[in-house]
Amino acid sequence: MPEQFDVVVIGTGPGGYVCAIKAAQLGLKTAVVEKLPNHGGTCVNVGCIPSKALLHATEMYAEAQHSFDKLGIEVSGVSVNLEKLMAHRAQTVDQNVKGLDFLMKKNKIAIFRGTGRIAAAGKVVVTAEDGAEQTVETKNIVIATGSEVAGIPGVNVEFDEKVIVSSTGALVLDKVPGKLVVVGGGVIGLELGSVWARLGAEVTVVEYLDNILGGMDGEIAKQFQRLLAKQGFTFKLGAKVTAVQRSENGASVSFEPAKGGDSETIEADVVLVSTGRKPYTAGLGLQEAGIEVDERGRVKVDGHLRTNVPGVYAIGDVVVGPMLAHKAEEEGVAVAEIIAGQAGHVNYNVIPGVVYTSPEVASVGKTEEELKKAGVEYNVGKFPFSANGRARSMLQTDGLVKVLADKQTDQVLGVHILGFGAGEMIHEAAVLMEFGGSSEDLARTCHAHPTMSEAVKEAALAAFAKPIHS
Ligand SMILES: Cc1cc2nc3c(=O)[nH]c(=O)nc-3n(C[C@H](O)[C@H](O)[C@H](O)COP(=O)(O)OP(=O)(O)OC[C@H]3O[C@@H](n4cnc5c(N)ncnc54)[C@H](O)[C@@H]3O)c2cc1C
Repeated sequence: MPEQFDVVVIGTGPGGYVCAIKAAQLGLKTAVVEKLPNHGGTCVNVGCIPSKALLHATEMYAEAQHSFDKLGIEVSGVSVNLEKLMAHRAQTVDQNVKGLDFLMKKNKIAIFRGTGRIAAAGKVVVTAEDGAEQTVETKNIVIATGSEVAGIPGVNVEFDEKVIVSSTGALVLDKVPGKLVVVGGGVIGLELGSVWARLGAEVTVVEYLDNILGGMDGEIAKQFQRLLAKQGFTFKLGAKVTAVQRSENGASVSFEPAKGGDSETIEADVVLVSTGRKPYTAGLGLQEAGIEVDERGRVKVDGHLRTNVPGVYAIGDVVVGPMLAHKAEEEGVAVAEIIAGQAGHVNYNVIPGVVYTSPEVASVGKTEEELKKAGVEYNVGKFPFSANGRARSMLQTDGLVKVLADKQTDQVLGVHILGFGAGEMIHEAAVLMEFGGSSEDLARTCHAHPTMSEAVKEAALAAFAKPIHS
């Protein structure tokens, strides 16, 4: 009799490895299939983790150049050693990969190296790099194969990952480009644009929409754009890219106004195309196994993350929802619990989103635009960091907190923060929302003084009464 598993997870990104660990903790006999040498998927290897290593290092560099003097700290000869900076990035990735190897072992998870294909419900065929095939039998299969770079619809982009790069290439450039054009004003483009801008690149962002950070609160996105412009970013908004091509010394990007008009071409040393990602299901055998996908190629799942084939589940970037590591992780936990007979659940109303720029942008719940569209009446409370003592002491006065609460019930429906440390501060709002709390609950919670978080309390106060400090 071949070995039978309770769960086989295909893909070990944050969705897959978290699912496997949780399943093992719940006593299920668990295996993973991974085609790359490292666990961790996009997030650990070419996404969240390496980008944050570069963002942190370059933020320190920018601080040393522009802020230290104002604090009375005089430094001279601050310079960047790109090789060392990249070594920090690589070491950070390596530490995380090693951590995952340790967790796999600790939880006694069986590892199959190779590309997983679903032959039928309960059967995963693993093809190793040398072509050798092995069939793994299991009661349940979890698809966690993630996503890949999407490119630009209708435009042929030939990524060489040196001059015309995706986010993966932009993480490992071996010299600072003089001019960097970023196609796509979303989170990844603005984060990686920030990295290279801080290192000296002249950055131009070309975006199809009339605003950056599509989907985020409009007011916050506008203020954020102004701050980035102050940092030297140039924006070409409402611009439809028609071509990205190699040129003699680099590459060119051609675009025309999205609403019609004359086209323009700009030259760059490097072009980063960061126009989003699409689900990755190549080689999985979905069609043969009869597993349905939607019109955008995402594996179709129901409210319990089940596909249409019994015993086959899907999670993370490969299914509908925000393409975020923590969303994938939550789904991983939920599916493991569901398979173990527990009530696994993901609250999609409370998935925070963070842009790790300087300052950071963080949000959870609904935007004003979404509430207006849904016809929900709401109160708005805002508080600027310029009126916060701690922010002044740290020279971090840019930005604001915005709290949106239901007009009738005062339940908090959304919180949006633009400011230093926003990505950490957002979580008190997430916890509050998870418990269905009101702006009054938030405002009456004692916050330590002096902290940036006091601005969250004040914004909540502003939503149902009046702020004290502005
Ligand atoms: C530059 C960048 C920065 C990002 N920053 C953030 C951030 O700060 N915060 C955040 O929340 N998100 C961030 N993301 C998004 C985040 O990386 C993804 O949402 C997350 O990795 C999705 O997890 P996943 O488990 O669904 O898939 P993935 O992480 O993509 O993992 C899928 C895994 O499946 C494997 N696989 C695929 N097919 C097969 C197969 N047939 N057989 C075996 N193995 C297979 C792949 O090799 C991979 O290891 C970033 C992404 C990028 C590109």
